[in-house]
Amino acid sequence: MSETLFTKIINREIPADIVYEDEQCLAFKDIQPQAPTHLLIIPKKPIVTINDMEASDKELIGHLFWVAKQMASEMGFASDGYRAVMNCNEHGGQSVYHIHLHLLAGKPLGWPPYTDTLKV
Ligand code: AMP
Repeated sequence: MSETLFTKIINREIPADIVYEDEQCLAFKDIQPQAPTHLLIIPKKPIVTINDMEASDKELIGHLFWVAKQMASEMGFASDGYRAVMNCNEHGGQSVYHIHLHLLAGKPLGWPPYTDTLKV
């Protein structure tokens, strides 16, 4: 599998504003923030997309949400609220093929997150 820029961030080969790290994951500020707080929480294991998760990854992905919860509490936006979301493939808006949990906070976030018209 080819290395993404997130592996380079994990290996400190390119800079990032890292706010949290443990044995399993890393959290850093998104370079193009879509909210006053926009963090990316990534596993150190380079899983390409949600589709590529294995059963043995379930605890690791749960850990990313656990870290999101802790960051929300420590950064003071837990009670106001936030969004924790993972995009998958082209239609999901994924651009970096190393899974990552977006943690967005600091303002009321719109829903639904798309601007096109959905006809049902
Ligand atoms: P996605 O579109 O869900 O794959 O999200 C990828 C995210 O990575 C986008 O929000 C980008 O702004 C962000 N991003 C890309 N390059 C960097 C970088 N070098 N440092 C921090 N965030 C980045």
